[in-house]
Amino acid sequence: MKQDIMHNVLLEEPLEDIKQGLTAGESKEKLIYSGRSFCPSCERVIKANLISRDNFIYIVKECHFEHKVFENLIQKISPNELNEIKTKIPAHWPVITKKLPLGYIRKTNNHSEELGVKNIKNLVFAVLLLTNRCNLGCKICFQKTAHFRKDMELAQIKQIVKNFKKMLIVLFGGEPTLRDDLPEIISLVKKSGNFPILFTNGLKLSDRKYLAKLKKAGLKTVFFTLDSLSYNPEAVIRGINEHCYEKKIKALENLIADKFNIRINATILKGINENQVPLFIKYASDHPEISELFFRPLCLTGNEEWNGFNKSHLLSPSEIMNSACRYLQIDEDYFFAWDKFKWAIVNYLSDKSTLLKLPQFSPGQIYLKREKNGFVPLFDLGIMRDLTEALENNKIYNKLYKIAKPKNIGYILELFKRIAARSASMESSDFMKTVLRISVRPLIGESLYMLPGSESIVDNLKYFSDGKVSVGFNNSLPRPGMGVFFE
Ligand code: SF4
Repeated sequence: MKQDIMHNVLLEEPLEDIKQGLTAGESKEKLIYSGRSFCPSCERVIKANLISRDNFIYIVKECHFEHKVFENLIQKISPNELNEIKTKIPAHWPVITKKLPLGYIRKTNNHSEELGVKNIKNLVFAVLLLTNRCNLGCKICFQKTAHFRKDMELAQIKQIVKNFKKMLIVLFGGEPTLRDDLPEIISLVKKSGNFPILFTNGLKLSDRKYLAKLKKAGLKTVFFTLDSLSYNPEAVIRGINEHCYEKKIKALENLIADKFNIRINATILKGINENQVPLFIKYASDHPEISELFFRPLCLTGNEEWNGFNKSHLLSPSEIMNSACRYLQIDEDYFFAWDKFKWAIVNYLSDKSTLLKLPQFSPGQIYLKREKNGFVPLFDLGIMRDLTEALENNKIYNKLYKIAKPKNIGYILELFKRIAARSASMESSDFMKTVLRISVRPLIGESLYMLPGSESIVDNLKYFSDGKVSVGFNNSLPRPGMGVFFE
C-alpha cells in the first residue's frame, strides 16, 4: 500500500464529458481527469492526464521542462465502475487548500509549508511511516525500500500523537517491526489516548514471544499482508521464498491464538491467486478474530512491469467483487448498494452536526453478518436501497422502523453510532466480532480517481499537514504520498 512519486496527481475539476458520464464498454480513449503530477525525471510539478483506454487507466504526463512525455499503465477499471463510485463529499471533510504551481520543485520532504489543510480536527485516522526499511523486497512494492532513509524519530512520533485523541494511528513502513523500539512506540501511542494499529508483512510475528511483547505494549489490531492461504503465490507475486510463506501462516496462527483483531490484506493477480478470494472468506467464517478482508487488485506503478507483471495480471475491482459475490451467493450490485448506503448515512449525519468525525467510506466495502454456517448479508439489498432513499430524502427517523425488520435495527443503529462517533474504531470490536467487512479497492487508483473535484480527500491522501507538523510523511520517504487515511 505504497505510492510512487510518479503517480501522484493533484486532481483538478473533472472534464465535462466525464461529469456527464461515460458509456459502459466504450473502448475509445477518454480523458478522466486533467491534473498535476511530478515529472519522474526532473521532479517538477507538471501537467498530467488520467485517461481510460479499453477499460484500463493510464497516466500521461507532459514535461515541458524536459520535453518528454511519460505514459504508464496504472490499473484495470471500466468507465462504468468509475461512474459508480462518484459521490458527494461532506462539507466538513478535511481538505487541502493550496496547490503546488506548475514547475514547482519540492525543496524538502516536509510539506507543512507547502500546503494548507482545513478541517483537520475531523480526521480519525493517521498513518505514521516509521521506516522505509523492510525485511522483504517484494516485486510489487511501490516503496523504494532499498533506498535508505532515516527512520522517523521517536520525538517526532511523540509530537504527532500528542495532537490527537482517539485517533487510529497506523504504524506503517517499510516494515515497522524492524524498529527495535516498536513496543515503545505502541505504548506511547496507547498512552496518548489513541489506538495503535500495526501494518506488517507478518514475518516477525511468527515469533510468538515477540508478538506477546507487542500485545503487552498495548497492540490489539494488526493489518497483515498475506496473498494466499493454500499455497505460495508470494514466490510469484512478491519474489520471496517458501520459507517466508510458512512464516506468514505461522504469524496468522499466532495472531488468531492470541485473539488479535486481524485485517488481512491480499493483493490479487489474475491467473495467480484470484482463486483465493472465496478461500479467505471461508477461512474468516471460522475465525471471528478476522474482522476485515481487504482485497487489492494489482496496480502498476512502473516497477512491476520491469518485474514481469503486465496488463494480463490486472483485475478490475468489479471482477474481485463478483468473485466474492458468487461465493456468497449475493447480488453483484451489493457492493455498489453498500457504497450508496454508507455515503447516504455520512451525508445525512454530516448535515446534522459539523462536529462529527466521519470515517473513510471508500468504494467497494460490504458488511456481512457472521452466522453458524458462514456469512450472510447484513441487510438485504431491498432494505438497503429503501434506507438509502429514506436517508437521501431526509426521512430516516420516520422510515427506519418501517423499513428495517426488527432483527436489522440493532445493526443499523450500531452502524450509525460507529459512523458518528470518533471512537468508531476497530478497537471496539464487539460489533466487529459479529460482522466481517470485505473491502475491494485499488489504493493507487483510489488516490487518482476516487472522488471528483479538488475539494476531496484525494488531496489529503497525497499531502497532509497541520501547519506545524507533517503527519504521516516525514523525511523517510522520497515522495509526498499518502499520509492520512480516514477510517
Ligand atoms: S513487505 Fe511491504 S514494504 Fe516490504 S517490500 Fe513487501 S510490499 Fe514493500
